[in-house]
Amino acid sequence: MAWDFETDPEYQKALDWADEFVRSEIEPLDLAFPHQQFTPLDDNRRKVIDPLKEEVRRRGLWATHLGPELGGQGHGQLKLALLNEVLGRSQWAPIIFGCQAPDTGNAEILAHYGTDQQKQRYLRPLLDGELFSCYSMTEPHAGADPTLFTTQAVRGGDDWVINGWKFFSSNARTASFLIVMVVTNPEVSAYQGMSMFLVPTDTPGVKIVRNFGLHGEREGEGSHALIHYDNVRVPSEALLGGEGQAFVIAQTRLGGGRIHHAMRTIGLSRTALDMMCERALSRETQGAKLSDKQFVQGYIADSYAQLLQFRLMVLYTAWEIDKYNDYKKVRKDIAAVKVVMPTVLHDIAWRAMQVHGALGVTDDVPFMGMVTGAAVMGLADGPTEVHKATVAKQVLRDYQPSNDIWPTEWIPRKREAAQEKFAEYLEHEVGNL
Ligand SMILES: Cc1cc2nc3c(=O)[nH]c(=O)nc-3n(C[C@H](O)[C@H](O)[C@H](O)COP(=O)(O)OP(=O)(O)OC[C@H]3O[C@@H](n4cnc5c(N)ncnc54)[C@H](O)[C@@H]3O)c2cc1C
Repeated sequence: MAWDFETDPEYQKALDWADEFVRSEIEPLDLAFPHQQFTPLDDNRRKVIDPLKEEVRRRGLWATHLGPELGGQGHGQLKLALLNEVLGRSQWAPIIFGCQAPDTGNAEILAHYGTDQQKQRYLRPLLDGELFSCYSMTEPHAGADPTLFTTQAVRGGDDWVINGWKFFSSNARTASFLIVMVVTNPEVSAYQGMSMFLVPTDTPGVKIVRNFGLHGEREGEGSHALIHYDNVRVPSEALLGGEGQAFVIAQTRLGGGRIHHAMRTIGLSRTALDMMCERALSRETQGAKLSDKQFVQGYIADSYAQLLQFRLMVLYTAWEIDKYNDYKKVRKDIAAVKVVMPTVLHDIAWRAMQVHGALGVTDDVPFMGMVTGAAVMGLADGPTEVHKATVAKQVLRDYQPSNDIWPTEWIPRKREAAQEKFAEYLEHEVGNL
């Protein structure tokens, strides 16, 4: 009987420390240095940030999901999930703990597929938190269906020359390098004809045409780039993994990325629930506290149950990833988590917003940002509909069609079989009547 829902007491102590550290030392960074977590440190911010990272390292909580050979603790995904729950409440916390998206996913594929030289050049400084990276896959005309991508790399002597457009490449403007998915062989299926390249952002021909901002961000704050790759020449050593391996690499990357977002979403949703409960106990109307009104009790109960279900689902999926060490085997459950995630955050944030009345829709409280965040989660790393289709296809693999017009569970046929099985006893019972 190996089921166990308890956190190892030593690790729980580490989580308790992290919780307090995030509240007292990191959350203030979100207000003092908003939206700057992916901007390389200047001397001024370095004085604040480096000691915090150092403290996390001293506690053995830096990039814990990575193996010791990569500077982490090898804690795996389940422990990362428990930690990410704590970090999810703050923008800066994942950076201070060395586990921020999209860099975690990018580091993961560099660790899996990179050559020694590529690891030295890109992975090491990425893991040290000294530079940022960007994953450049979506194109302006095609996102959910990568088989429609047209950005292409062709051989030019010993080099590759990349031409095309990419859209919503997050953090490109502050990243030191881009991981770009391009067509290298248009003659074969996209699944065999696309490759990944590592491209330093300052390579001639990399043109960030525009940075798109999300709702609520001020002009100039946007960080999702439209990039024109205009005759970008890279050496053959820039190829990540083998030629034609882009789809396999993308699956490795996106599997991890999706579950990490889900872990942080637990923390964010819990903040909304905490705020909803505090407000319900504080506000009085028509002679009673909001917490005494059945509608509000319903909001609280539904939110608690939704969060509990989601949390268990995420922890179970993280446990499966650790157990199988193979994202493909856990694809169905990662996709199911991805499907549920936006709804959980949206519903809890929306109810919390409602319970806060007019204050709820202002920028003085975080709910509008959470609702936008929920919408983002329904798109980033693939739209919900596509993940639903994945879940359904994977679920259906375990089923067979019924071999006649009646369902296998058709009761008249089952009853007949049961009566035949127990005929001897049934006759006896009838005889006794
Ligand atoms: C905040 C944010 C950050 C992002 N960061 C990155 C990044 O760093 N790098 C990167 O490469 N991309 C990034 N993306 C892009 C993201 O991966 C795409 O937005 C996503 O894959 C959907 O592509 P699309 O926007 O082109 O929508 P489309 O592919 O045009 O789809 C639009 C809508 O059509 C419907 N739809 C599409 N396909 C299906 C289907 N098969 N079945 C049913 N309905 C369907 C869905 O409702 C979907 O939302 C980011 C997006 C966001 C919002």
